[in-house]
Amino acid sequence: MGILSGKKALIFGVANDRSIAWGVAKALKEQGAQVALSYANDALKKRVEPLAEELGADFTFEMDVTNDEHYENLAASVNKHWDKFDILVHSIAFADRQDLKGRFLDTSRSGYQLACDISAFSLVGLSQKLEPLMNNESSIIAMTYYGSQKVIKNYNVMGVAKAALEASTRYLAYDMGEKGVRVNCISAGPIKTLAASGISGFRELLAQVEEKAPLRRNVTQEDVGSNAVYLASDLSKGVTGQTLYVDSGLSILGGF
Ligand code: NAP
Repeated sequence: MGILSGKKALIFGVANDRSIAWGVAKALKEQGAQVALSYANDALKKRVEPLAEELGADFTFEMDVTNDEHYENLAASVNKHWDKFDILVHSIAFADRQDLKGRFLDTSRSGYQLACDISAFSLVGLSQKLEPLMNNESSIIAMTYYGSQKVIKNYNVMGVAKAALEASTRYLAYDMGEKGVRVNCISAGPIKTLAASGISGFRELLAQVEEKAPLRRNVTQEDVGSNAVYLASDLSKGVTGQTLYVDSGLSILGGF
């Protein structure tokens, strides 16, 4: 028995065992939730299925957030396994590698659209299509980064996409609050993952946290996972539309 016993969680964004979504999936499962994992296409299914099995996930399902047909079929494919669910974890982001270095000024229109579509609109699209399957008082959690608030070298268009994601969280929180559904973000400090490896100079971000953040250490998948448990559970009942910083406190510093 855990504090999430009886709850069901759909988790979007496990690419491998370094993914933040994997840390979250394990933490939710440890607290008694039933979980299901998405994969973006058939090639990635091969990577996600062994992890789903290791975790004891109820099922896996296909969802590429650039594919309109996948949005249309999403509720039905979840509904084959579960009538309703309680927790939606959005841990999806993408931008062209060329847009994660150099000058933000040089971002192309198509690169801007792609980053914002995959990394921000997807939260709206998934919430929209899955709302009918969400129990009252469900919890939606999305992953963001401080580059939405301040200029972080090379984060560029992804900073803009994260700002859109955080604003979307607030608007969704307003709309979905009528049914008691809560929508929050976790703003994680840098963690070495596949997506992070696309950001030029990522190692410097890790070094900066160890040197300057109040806690003088980088955060882990487990740190994000336990905070996701809090946001998914009734412990955070009165909290919605917020961004919870799990960043060793780096974001409280000025002038570093
Ligand atoms: P990750 O393991 O590479 O996860 C990114 C996920 O996005 C992957 O599962 C990827 O799937 C998925 N994705 C990309 N395009 C997609 C599409 N079209 N449809 C469906 N899924 C798609 O990296 P991560 O660092 O854990 O990232 C997870 C989230 O945490 C992201 O929102 C990221 O911005 C955020 N975050 C990361 C850090 C960090 O330092 N790592 C810090 C703060 C916030 P495939 O690889 O299978 O395509």
